[in-house]
Amino acid sequence: MKKFLAAIVAVLVVTAAFATVFAANYVGNANSRKFHVGNCASVGKMKPANRVNFNSRDEAIAAGYVPCKRCKP
Ligand SMILES: [Zn+2]
Repeated sequence: MKKFLAAIVAVLVVTAAFATVFAANYVGNANSRKFHVGNCASVGKMKPANRVNFNSRDEAIAAGYVPCKRCKP
């Protein structure tokens, strides 16, 4: 029973860690006014100075950014 509980706790910890990593996974380009999912190829090519992080899709749209046609965020 203790092992079972330890397994549940481990799953929760891993899930929380992933949620933290993927929480801010929208990146806008201040220059092009487009936003991308964090793993879009365009994000890697973007100049760090133009990077704007968004916590949600709605946040990016509210800021006037349009979704990228490649990664379709
Ligand atoms: Zn993109």
